[in-house]
Amino acid sequence: MASALTDKLSRLVKTLSGQARITESNVADMLREVRMALLEADVALPVVRDFIARVKEKALGQEVMGSLKPGQALVGVVNRELAATMGEGVSDINLAAQPPAVILMAGLQGAGKTTTTAKLAKHLIEKRKKKVLTVSGDVYRPAAIEQLKTVTAQAGAEWFPSTPDQKPIDIARAAIDYARKHFFDVLLVDTAGRLAIDEALMTEIKALHAELKPVETLFVVDAMQGQDAANTAKAFSDALPLTGIVLTKLDGDSRGGAALSVRQITGVPIKFAGTSEKIDGLEVFDAERHAGRVLGMGDIVALVEQVTAGVDMEAAQKLAAKVKSGGGFDLNDFLAQIQQMKQMGGLSSLMDKLPSQLSAKAGAMDMDKVEKDIGRKQGIIHSMTPKERSKPELIKATRKRRIAAGAGVQVQDVNRMLKEFEQMQDMMKKMSGGGMMKMMKRMGA
Ligand code: GDP
Repeated sequence: MASALTDKLSRLVKTLSGQARITESNVADMLREVRMALLEADVALPVVRDFIARVKEKALGQEVMGSLKPGQALVGVVNRELAATMGEGVSDINLAAQPPAVILMAGLQGAGKTTTTAKLAKHLIEKRKKKVLTVSGDVYRPAAIEQLKTVTAQAGAEWFPSTPDQKPIDIARAAIDYARKHFFDVLLVDTAGRLAIDEALMTEIKALHAELKPVETLFVVDAMQGQDAANTAKAFSDALPLTGIVLTKLDGDSRGGAALSVRQITGVPIKFAGTSEKIDGLEVFDAERHAGRVLGMGDIVALVEQVTAGVDMEAAQKLAAKVKSGGGFDLNDFLAQIQQMKQMGGLSSLMDKLPSQLSAKAGAMDMDKVEKDIGRKQGIIHSMTPKERSKPELIKATRKRRIAAGAGVQVQDVNRMLKEFEQMQDMMKKMSGGGMMKMMKRMGA
């Protein structure tokens, strides 16, 4: 698993950092990876196809072609398109109605409707300063009515009693009547769910909708449902004019591909995300942050950007020209190369951005040690005089002792660094300017 991912990742990064131009074929390679990532995240197949087609169109268009760093631009397009598909700015609950504004909660049993009803009640009380009433229309499960009573109390809202012998529509009428008489701003209506969609449930909720005329009809869906979320969303959105989605259980380990499917199928915004079982576990949905999770490549976008930004092509070209014109490779150039490695944000910070399986593997390399070693070399060169840096052959025993003392290291550390420098100098001599560029690119990737 880790090695397949390693291959995939290094291929991708190489493609992106090495390419000067975006062509139809390298876009196709890249999009194949994105497609895999989306399918692995349980996004429904038709939704994936649609998404890839849109990205392809944009990637081959002006947006990427005209840019200086096409690799980066391409990753940017994928990420932006993903975020744009899943959301457009913040959309809070709409309460623009003659009070009480009614909010109808719909979804399968176990999706998190009751929990979310209470979370929303708390949100509306605290953030919108509203007076909130809740009622349960789930007459099939007495426990569900009790559950709503309990969580409503936790939210600090008022609960309207209902019993299993009543008809949901009668409960709804009584609740709305009570809310009006007691000047409630909002009435949250929890409804019955089934383990799978059935006709009777849909007919019942349609009738409730007609009676209540809710200002919001929220579809509550479990992020862990994966592919099934697409079918559920289709059924609910065919039956009801949905106005928003609440994606629950995002604290679980699913990649949350359901967000993309559900958003695309219903065409309504994902308004909130459930992030724990607790009453305050509700967040305004953040499409951009979620895009990274769905792609599931750790923070791969940031990684690619960091790597491509780290390769300073201008510096590489200068160095190549210098070597070519017989200017030689001195310790200043060596230092510049070391600094470039540091510019990439430090190795351990790069490792943090990799997917977890991969970074666990890389962890065995002891990045701290590698980084310390880079720092030590830098310190040694900094303790040299400009003359020593451009003419390293001057550095004999006395100078070595002085440099070691200045850098706070041992003389053998200075020797080791000089040896590495000589090896690199040797390599440079053997290389033409073109080979040099290739090597710089390899270091970047
Ligand atoms: P309902 O049948 O649709 O009303 O679903 P419930 O509200 O009873 O929720 C079903 C289960 O999911 C309960 O155990 C909840 O505590 C849990 N749950 C709901 N939302 C979340 C969430 O955002 N995160 C987690 N971890 N659990 C949740």
